[in-house]
Formats: sequence, C-alpha cells, structure tokens
Amino acid sequence: MTIQLLIGAPATGKTERCLARVQAAQAGLPLQQVWVLVPDRAQAAAFRRRLAEKGGALGVHVGRFADLYKHLLSARGKALATISLPLQNRLIREAIHAADAEKKLTHFAPIVHFPGLVTAMRDVIVELKRGLVNVEKFMLAAENGTAAQQEMGIIYARYQARLDALGYADDEDVHRQAMALLEEDKNAAGEIALLVVDGFDQFTPAQYQGLKLLSGQAQETLITLPGAMDGTRAAHQRFAESIAQIRDDLSPQAEELAGDPHLPKAIEYLEANLFEQAHGEAIFLNEPMLLEARSPEAEAREALRWIKGLVVRAGIPLVRCAIFTPNAEVYHPLLRATAEEFGMPVRFTSDDPLTDSALATAILNLLKLPLENFRTRKLMNVLRSPYFNFLLSDADIDTLEMISRAAQVVEGREQWDETWEMLKRAPGTQGLWMDDTRNVPELPREGEAEEYQVMMDGVLTMLTPPAGRANYGEWIDWTETRFQQLKLADQLESEAERSVMLAFREILRALLVSEAVAGAAAVDYGEFIAELESLVRAEGYRENTRRRQPALVVGRMEEARGVRYDAVALLGLAEGSFPAVERADPFLDEELREALGLESRLAREQGGLFYQAVTRADRHLLMTRPYLADDGEDMEPSTFWKAAALLLDQAAEPKIDSERLLALADAGSREEVLFHAVRQKSLPRQYGFLESRWHDLQQARDALLARRSSEADSPYEGNPVSLTSQLAARFGKKYGWSASRLETYGACPFFFYVNQALGLNAQEQPQVGLNAMKLGNMMHEILELTYMQAENYAVDNLLAVLKAQAAEVFARAPEHFGFRPSALWEAEQVQYLAVLEETVRAIEEGVEWEPYRFEQRFGINGEPPLRIDLGDETILLRGLVDRIDRRADGGLRIIDYKTGGSHLSKKDLEEGLRLQLPIYALAARDALGLGEPVEGFYWHIQGAKAGSLKLARFGTDAAYNILKLHLRRILEGIRAAQFTPQAPSGGCPDYCPAAQWCWKYESRGW
Ligand code: SF4
Repeated sequence: MTIQLLIGAPATGKTERCLARVQAAQAGLPLQQVWVLVPDRAQAAAFRRRLAEKGGALGVHVGRFADLYKHLLSARGKALATISLPLQNRLIREAIHAADAEKKLTHFAPIVHFPGLVTAMRDVIVELKRGLVNVEKFMLAAENGTAAQQEMGIIYARYQARLDALGYADDEDVHRQAMALLEEDKNAAGEIALLVVDGFDQFTPAQYQGLKLLSGQAQETLITLPGAMDGTRAAHQRFAESIAQIRDDLSPQAEELAGDPHLPKAIEYLEANLFEQAHGEAIFLNEPMLLEARSPEAEAREALRWIKGLVVRAGIPLVRCAIFTPNAEVYHPLLRATAEEFGMPVRFTSDDPLTDSALATAILNLLKLPLENFRTRKLMNVLRSPYFNFLLSDADIDTLEMISRAAQVVEGREQWDETWEMLKRAPGTQGLWMDDTRNVPELPREGEAEEYQVMMDGVLTMLTPPAGRANYGEWIDWTETRFQQLKLADQLESEAERSVMLAFREILRALLVSEAVAGAAAVDYGEFIAELESLVRAEGYRENTRRRQPALVVGRMEEARGVRYDAVALLGLAEGSFPAVERADPFLDEELREALGLESRLAREQGGLFYQAVTRADRHLLMTRPYLADDGEDMEPSTFWKAAALLLDQAAEPKIDSERLLALADAGSREEVLFHAVRQKSLPRQYGFLESRWHDLQQARDALLARRSSEADSPYEGNPVSLTSQLAARFGKKYGWSASRLETYGACPFFFYVNQALGLNAQEQPQVGLNAMKLGNMMHEILELTYMQAENYAVDNLLAVLKAQAAEVFARAPEHFGFRPSALWEAEQVQYLAVLEETVRAIEEGVEWEPYRFEQRFGINGEPPLRIDLGDETILLRGLVDRIDRRADGGLRIIDYKTGGSHLSKKDLEEGLRLQLPIYALAARDALGLGEPVEGFYWHIQGAKAGSLKLARFGTDAAYNILKLHLRRILEGIRAAQFTPQAPSGGCPDYCPAAQWCWKYESRGW
C-alpha cells in the first residue's frame, strides 16, 4: 500500500500525472481495478473525456465517493436499496406528524403543516449524516440546546427508525454502511490496484473518513491537491488544512510539482501574486480582463458576447468555454435568456428549479384552486392559462370575469350560484339606453345567464376533488384525469415545457412507488397537494435535447475547480455578492456546528474559491462586476475584484454603459444588430434581410423618444394626425353627443381618445357592496319613482311614497343592477333611505319651486335630440335630465342628482369641464319645449344640498355662450386629432382607462 500526495499550483499538470498513472497501471494488467474519484459528475465527465483523448484505458471507473461505496457494498452482497426523494419526504413528514400528534413538538408545532418544514428538516438530516453525526450524537449535543434543536433530534430519530424498519437507506446511509464495511473487512477495497483522488480542494468530514479507510486498503493511492507544500499563502488557505491533515494522518509520499503553471502570462501573474502583500508592477494586458457593466443583466450579455466572439473569431470550441457565477438564482435566468437570444446552447451544471418554470407554477395553481375556495382572481388566471384547454373562448372568459366583477364574486361556488340565480331572474336591459354615466351593466340575463352557469359549473365540478381521504394512487389518478381533460400534453410547445412535464410526472410516479414501499396512507386532498408541492419545490429539471449538443458550461463559483477551459468568465464580483455575505444557519447554529464537528457557515475561505476560479482559464479570462444596484445606487467592487485589479494594467477598465454604441460586427444577436442600427440611424447593406424589422424598431424608438419628452406633442402621445379623416367622419355632423363625452374631452383630451375613440374601459376592481355607479343609479331610480308616483309634493306625502318606492327598488336591486348583496345589505338600505329622506326634505324647502318633470330624455329612444347652432354646423346632443322644477312665472330650474362628492364651481363651466347644466337647460327649452330655464344646479344627494355651480349666478345666456365656445373647441380638437394628455387639476380619475400606463398620470393625492 502506497499513498502519494501530489501538490501543485493550478495548471502544473496534476491531472495530467493522474491520467498517465492510470494508463500506466492499465497497460500491463488491463483487468485490475482502477478507480478515479472526483467531486461531481461534471468533473467525472471531463476526466473521462481527457482519458479518451489520450487513447483511453479499459475498465477504469471514474465517479464520486458514493459510486465507489455502492460498488464495494454490492461486491460484498450488501447492496442497499436507497429511497427516492418522494419517499424520503414522506418519511420525514410522517416523523413530524407523529411527533406532533404525541405533543412532542412545541417550537415547530405551528408550522407542522407547512411543506417548507419537511424540506428544511431534510436539509438538516442530510448535512448531519454527511458530517458523520448520527442520531445518538445529535441527541446528546442537543440535550441542553434550544427547543428547536431538541425537536430536530426527535424528528431525526423517528425518521431514522422508520427507515431502518423498512430496510431502506438514504443516499447518506450508503456512506455509513460503506464505512462499517471498510472497518469490519480490512480487505473490502483491497482489489483496487490504483485509487486516484483528483479535483478536490478540500474534503468534507465524511469524504475524509472514506479517504482514510480506502487509502489504507487500496494497493496504491494517488491524491492531488492544489496549493503548495508549505501552505503559507493567503490564496492557499482553503487547501492548506487538507494538505496538513493528510500529511499528518496518512504519512503519504508528498511531492510538490515544480515548474511554472501552463498558463498565459497574465493569468500566471495573477496566480502567483493574488492576495500577496508584496507583489510587482501591474502586468500589461493585451486584452481586457476586467469589465464593469451596469447590472447583472448587462454582465450576462457582455460575457456571452465575449464568448461568442472567441468561438466565432478565434475558433475556440464552445465546450471549452465556461461561465461561473456566485449566485445562480440571479445569473442563471439572465444567462439562459440571453444565450437563447444569441443562439448559444448552454449546459447548466445544476438543474433548473422546477418552481422557476411557468408550467409547474400553472399546474400547482390549478390543483390548489379548490383548496383556496376558487379565489376568483386565481380562477380567472387558470382559465386564461395557455396550458389548459377548458373549451371556453376568450370572449366567454371575458364575460365570466365581467360577471364576477359586477356581482362581486370574490370566491367560491356559493357566490357563483347566488349570482346565477340573480341573473336568471333579472330581465334584459338591451336597448334601454339611459345616459353614459347611468347605464346598467350589460350582463347576460335569463337564458343567456344559464349558458354561462353551465360553463362555470363545468369548470368548478371538474376541479373539485372528492371529499374525504384517499390513498396517493387514487389522488394521482384523479390528477392525471384532470390533465387529460384539459389536454395539457397538447398545449406543450417547447422542449423545456416537455422536460418540466416529464419531471412532474416523475414526481407523481415516485409518490406511487413510495406508497408501494411505505404502505398506503389515506390522506385528504390538502395533504396530497402539500406533499406534491414540497416535492416540486425540491426538484429540478433539465432540457433533454441540450444534453447531447456541444454547449457552454455555466456553473456556480464553487464548481470552478478540477476542470480546465480555454475561456472562462467570472461574473458578479461585487461587494456582498462574491465574497458572499456569510450568515449563521438558523437551524444548526455555529456553537452546535462546532460541537458536532460540522463545517462552519462563517469562515468558508472564499478567497481560495476565487483563486481556483481565475486559474481555470488556459487562454482567456474575463472578470465582470455590476456597478449599479437595482435601486440605482452605486455597487462597490468586491475585495476580489480589487485584488485582481491591483495586478492587471489594462489601459482603462472598460465600463459598459447602456448608452454606448456597439459596432454591429460585435453584436451577439439579430436583436442587438437591430437595436444598435436604430441607435446609429443606419442599417448597412449586408443586414438588408433585417430591413422590415429595422423600420418597425425605428418607429418604436420614435414612439419612446416622443413619450419621454416633457412636451406631449406627437402622433404617439395623443396627436394621431394620420387619423384625422377617420375621426372627422366618425365624430361628424350626425354624431349624437352626450354631455359626459364632451366633458371627458374637456377634462383630458387623451382620456377621451382612449375611452371614446379607442373604446377602452377601465377594469373595475371587485369591491364589497355597491359601487358608485350602481349606487347612483339606484338613488336616481328611487327619487324618480317617488316623484312620479306621488299625488302631491307635500313633504310628508313624499316621504311616505319614498319609503314604499325605496322598499320596492331595494328588493329588486340585486337582479336589476347585477350585484350580490353583502352581509351589510339590510343595514345599508336603512342608511340609504335616511339619506334620501334628508335630501327630499332639503330640496323641498321653500315654496317657490314646484316639481314639474322627471327623467326627461332627449335624443334617446326616439326622442328628438337637442340641436345647437354653432354657426357653421349644428351639433346634435342627447341626454337625460333628472328633474325640472317650475315656478309660478313659468321659469324652469334644472336639477342633476349627484351621488359622488365632487365640489364643482363656476370655474368648471368656464374651463369646459362641466357642460351638463347649460346643455340640459337648452334641452328643456328647445328640445323638450318646456319653457325658459332660469336656474340649474347639481344636487348632492349624500350632502342633501345644491352645489355651488349655479346657472342663475352665471346668467343663462352667458352660460350658453360659454357652452358654444367650448363645443366648437372640442369638436375642432377631436376632428383635428388633438388628444394631448392633460392631467385634470386635482389629479386623474381612477376610471380613466389610461391611468395604468399613461405617462402623464397624476395621482389624486390623499
Ligand atoms: S391618466 Fe390622466 S393625463 Fe392620462 S389620459 Fe387619463 S386623465 Fe389624462
């Protein structure tokens, strides 16, 4: 038995020596066992590839420690049946629930039903086992610890007992059993002629224990480690401990590889001087190595462009390029999206989390709907999901959503059922035009409502699981049936989606297997979904086809070891990103870790990781950092960046900002060519195939520039001059105007354009109780009926009639106005009646005026319109006058009821914001022929008083003249396509459809 320890700086030929030793061992005796152990599967693949390039060697095993352990156990007839992740999850969940049922948990009791606890406990158990901490050792250490630590011990013990009782092992147990075998059978690994351990820079306690036992039995062991024999350099700290430990424990023949590393000059200089206090002058760089980009997204784009340039121009194979990042969650999605744009195949060393995929999220949302009582917002999202075919058209879903808003269906079948009953009883309202501000919603009624009821019932029934408990097999069957009914498989378009579906089905299959092993357990639907969700959260997926094609490697910074590449980019060298901020583990704190001999979470020698990463490149190296944080604040370069920058002399550290112009030849994708061509205002002839897209983008650029300018004056923001003739035709002389449409233009021309010309309406959010429009309509109707039914207008008589009419209107209001009464509806009726009574008392004060006409229509339902002569044309108007009073001399008073609380003044008429009163006054006089108006005002029902905008104060003739001026201005503006946004003083109304995206939006304040 010989043990050799080979130490050397990166790229000094350690792996090369291993390959030569392996080939030499196999040359004479090809049947003898040779094992090569490396840290992960990626390194195993790289080692095999290099061996093959050297002519190969028969029967050499290349793998991880676990692969060798399984081989040894199997060779001794002790192969272990290992459990799958779903079965492990299930056993941990059972352990938690059993401990909770026996009242053993207090700290974790409130969260025992959360899937996250199972995941967290699994991580703890895995780490304990890898750290050689068995149940007894942990219980002992936690004896005087916190309640959480003691309860973790209880869960760990129950899980292990159940696993043992089943006769199964988890992955970490393979190590335990192998150690037992090696200790009890001193020749268990004796057939291994050569054991090579390469690519590690340090060992976990479990790995080191295995290394000690294996090297004591294998005929020859060769271990390589980076660093130097003396281990004094700061950059070598990460490896120095392992070197010293091996030298002390195993007494190997230690050899330090002499000679300079086979690295380009600049990287060699970095390797030799990184983190050294005394170093020479900064070395001159032929090509930039440091790049500052605005954001992680820009870093990802620049790094990929750099690699694409090397592949295309320098002929470097894509498989010889790699990118390493300190934060996969931030950088991997950005790299994936940009690589797709650049047409570069990418292989991530780790699987993508299943929860990152839109499909997995959509499936979980679908299955969780019944548990969330079919929350309407989520139900509508599921109905609109591209992955499910509910056999409903977009128009059907729009209508269902409109019904849910009008009837305030927030959740649940019960609310839908109430809505259908209400709509089926309600008469239709088609053709009954009231006024722009007073129309009742056009909801499906009677028979049509029934059709929508059938649709919604079908959806709810399909997605409602059977009540009670069932075993996993039955729930999986139910779930698969839903997938078939919704034709899920037919909706999958990309390879990524098919891979996600495959991973999802694997989870379901694994659940079935776990049930076969651990026995059928009856669970309710909620428990089944919680289990499924926790598995989905723990699982990853990988696109199948991409495994087979040459691809760029993207990995985490900790994986930048062992394997070498021609070109390496290191991203994220910012303060707080790399080195990462180290935090104590909330489950296994530092004190407990020390007591158990587990690795600290606070001193992970990240400098050694950086040293390893920069020395992975055989030819080209690029290091990048983001210089702006999400909130626009400067981001500090990391200490690693600064340490490298001290040693490198590049004329200027290229700082890439979003405003720079890129040479088109350096563009990484067609999108980049187009983007920069538009900015440079020219598309060279060789890119002629992009011409139509180039024109589209130029237009988009003009639109953006126009919208970003402080003056809103362009076709893209309210002045669509090319539409002039269409607008003039549509809003021509025969168009029937309402006061509210004219006022909309007066308030903000763009509001009119979006709402009236484009036909967009603001989406109303469901709210408890009546909304403002329905409440206003109901109040109007009660007052109208009261005055029409009253035999005389004495206040007492009016109040008696009001009470009776209000009762009738309240009784049919839900069907008529299309809302579901809330629990407060009874109390609200009392309140509304009191408000109306107060208004009747106030409006009937004094004896001068007598009610004369109510709900007088003009230009509606066959009634003649109001015609106003503007000189060169006559404008047609329509509307509905709430009430007209008359006094003894025949003078008329126009009243318009308002339920809202806006305070209108003289200025509103002068500025053309409120034109209703003079229009209605002219209608009473000219269209309805009722006499000469002398007064007019808005009556605030809730405040029981008239508003301060009064026609008498103005003088009716003066008001008519102002009206005509504004009518001319508005008509000219509309027909000339002048719709410049102008936020109304006091802020933009919520019901403006553009409020969500208009760049000139102004909030109404507090
Ligand atoms: S958000 Fe304001 S400025 Fe924009 S269109 Fe609406 S009312 Fe006008």
